[in-house]
Amino acid sequence: MNQSKIGYINKIETFATVDGPGIRTLFFLSGCPLRCLYCHNPETWQQESGLQMDTTKLLTLVKRYKPYYGDSGGVTFSGGEPLMQAGYLAEALKVLKEANINTCLDTSGYSRSPLLPEILSHTDLVIYDVKAANPELYKKITGQDMQVTIDFLKLAQSHKVKLWIRQVIVPGLNDNEVNIEETAKLIADLDFVEKIELLPYHTLGTTKYKKLDLKYPLEGVEAMNSDRLKELTNLLFKKIEHYKQNR
Ligand code: SF4
Repeated sequence: MNQSKIGYINKIETFATVDGPGIRTLFFLSGCPLRCLYCHNPETWQQESGLQMDTTKLLTLVKRYKPYYGDSGGVTFSGGEPLMQAGYLAEALKVLKEANINTCLDTSGYSRSPLLPEILSHTDLVIYDVKAANPELYKKITGQDMQVTIDFLKLAQSHKVKLWIRQVIVPGLNDNEVNIEETAKLIADLDFVEKIELLPYHTLGTTKYKKLDLKYPLEGVEAMNSDRLKELTNLLFKKIEHYKQNR
């Protein structure tokens, strides 16, 4: 008899409302290959940590919450980086789709797993986190190579998966017009985009670093100013329009 795969889950939120449409059950999978300077979930970095749950149990749990999902809700996998547990994720998405449940993947797209096509074929929506649209800035923010995530994005486009695009804006790091311009260019080239948001950097995660005995890389950086964020958001939409017209 085939055994269902076991995954590591850092935490579960049962009534999430911002990570995908409607009311959702949110699974934070353990493990992340990136080390974003502003990460507020460092407790999710280690892959073999957290609760262990096989996909059969996951489905049983999800079915309990299904009545709350209505027409638009469902399940979102976040992290960490959910693609780190590609085998588990692929199986979990498949069983959820077989049970007619809406699926969403909240990801940085940082993976070269051969299972990506299978994962994307069972994903209704990708919430794609654009760390940066410039290779140097991407490396500075995440410590990794941007091409991996660009390749993921291309693959998602070939699967025609709907996209919500997000970027965290941090004072002194990427709250500038050059970054907005580069991000706009990247977004303007994409199809199937349903939503675009700039998210303000906040300092709520800093205490977690102390608990984990880790040095916080953005010590002293203040939370993002909301007026400046609005300005940058307006600029982003304007630039996207501009680049779309010249596509
Ligand atoms: S991808 Fe997410 S979990 Fe991983 S380091 Fe970056 S912000 Fe943290």
